Amino acid sequence: MPHYYIWTIGCQMNKVESERLAGYLETLGYESSTSPEAADLIFLNSCVVRQSAENRVFNKLFSLRSIKKLRPQVKIALTGCLVEGQGADLKQRFPFVDYFFPPGDFPAWLGKREPERLIPLQPSVASYVPIMQGCNNFCTYCIVPYRRGREVSRPPAEILNEVQELVKRGTSEVTLLGQNVDSYGRGLAERADLADLLEMLNALPDLLRIRFLTNHPKDMQEKLLNAVAILDKVCEQINLPVQAGNDQILKAMRRGYTRAEYIDLVGRIRARIPGIALTTDIIVGFPGETEAAFQDTFDLVSLLRFDQVHVAAYSARPGTVAAREMNDDVPLEVKKGRLARIEALQGGIAAEINRSFKDQVVEILVEGKEKGKWFGRTRGDKLVFFAAEGQYRGKLVRVKVTHTGPWSLSGAEHFDQTIEKRAQVC
Ligand code: SAH
Ligand code: SF4
Repeated sequence: MPHYYIWTIGCQMNKVESERLAGYLETLGYESSTSPEAADLIFLNSCVVRQSAENRVFNKLFSLRSIKKLRPQVKIALTGCLVEGQGADLKQRFPFVDYFFPPGDFPAWLGKREPERLIPLQPSVASYVPIMQGCNNFCTYCIVPYRRGREVSRPPAEILNEVQELVKRGTSEVTLLGQNVDSYGRGLAERADLADLLEMLNALPDLLRIRFLTNHPKDMQEKLLNAVAILDKVCEQINLPVQAGNDQILKAMRRGYTRAEYIDLVGRIRARIPGIALTTDIIVGFPGETEAAFQDTFDLVSLLRFDQVHVAAYSARPGTVAAREMNDDVPLEVKKGRLARIEALQGGIAAEINRSFKDQVVEILVEGKEKGKWFGRTRGDKLVFFAAEGQYRGKLVRVKVTHTGPWSLSGAEHFDQTIEKRAQVC
C-alpha cells in the first residue's frame, strides 16, 4: 500500500485543502504516514502571507532534498500560495520537487476532482467548507489575490450537497470559508448571497451549527446581520478584520473604510445581534505607522473590546503595492514591541470577558478529548473543557463554568436543565 504525507502551514483554507487532498488520496488507496521518511508521495502545502511562513516552507523544502537523494523514487509535490502559475521559476530553484500545482487545485495525474471524493471519510465534529476562492480586494500589503486569484464562488447546490455529505459522515458544525465571504455569490448564474446560503443550510436536518469566516467591513450588509440574528443554527460570531485603527494607515492599506465607519459598524452589529462574539485581525508596523498612528489602533482595541485579536507584524510581500511603493520604515524591534503591546492589552480584555462567564451555564458542542478532558466550543466560539466519563463527542452539552482564563473556560456538566433550542447566547 503506498503512503502519503502532507505538511501544511498557513490559514484555515490551506488546512481544509490538505484535509480534502488526504481524503482524495485515501479513495485512491493511499495510506497516511506520520513522517515524510516513510512516504511515497509527499505534499507541501505552503503559505507566503508573511516572510516568516515563507522561510519555514523553504526550510521544510530543503529538508526534503535529502529524502529525495536517498530514495529518488519518492514523489514530492508543492502547492499552496508559494506556487504561482505553473511554478516555472520554482522548478529551477527546487529541481528535486516533481510537481507544482496552485492552491486549491489538484495535480492532473491524480485523476478527476470529484467533489464527493474530496470529503474526508471521517470528518471532524466541526468541519470547514470552502465556499469561494480568491479575492478581488487587493489590499496593498496582501499577496493573497496574486496567489489565489480573483474571487470565484461555488454554486449553492454544490455547497449544500457537500454539507449534507459531511453531516452524514459525522459533522455537526460547519464553518463556511472564504477570503471575503460578504461578497459570496457575485458572478454566480443563480442569484444567492451569503445570507441566502445560510438560510438554505439552516434548514438541513442534523446540522447543529453554522459559522462563516472572514468578513470584510466594507462589504457587510444588513441582510447578513439579520440572517445571523434570526437563523437558529447560525452562531453569534463574526470575524471582522480591522487591520488598523488609524485613517491614514487604513487608506494606505486600501481597506475601503474609515475608523469611524468601522466603529459605527461594530455598534450596529452589537445592537442587531445581542451577545455577538467579535474577533479581528490587526497588522502593526505598516509603512508609515508612527507611534501616534499605532496608538490609534491600540485605543481602538481598548475601546471595542473584541473577544479575540490576531496580531501580525507587517511583512513586505514582493509583488504587492505596499512592497513596491512604500518604504518598510518601521524597525523590526518596534514592530515586535507594538505586537506585544496589543497582545498584552487583548490578553487582559479576553480574561475579563471570560471572567464574566464564571458560574454561568454555557452550551457547547463537544469536539473531542484532550489530556483526559472533553472540550468543545460555545456558540460564541469560547473553548470550554470539562471532565466526565462516557461518550460526548458530537453532543451538545451544558457546562457550568467554574474556572476562566484568557484562552479557555472549564467546568462541569450541568444536569438540571434541558437544552433550549437557542440556549444562552454566549
Ligand atoms: N481576507 C482577510 C484576511 C486574509 S490574510 C481580510 O481581509 O482581512 C490573513 C491575515 O494575515 C490578515 O488579516 C492580515 O492581518 C495578515 N496579513 C496579510 N498580509 C500581511 C502582511 N503582508 N504582513 C503581515 N500580515 C499580513
Ligand atoms: Fe488580502 Fe485584503 Fe483580500 Fe483579505 S481582503 S485576502 S487582506 S486582499
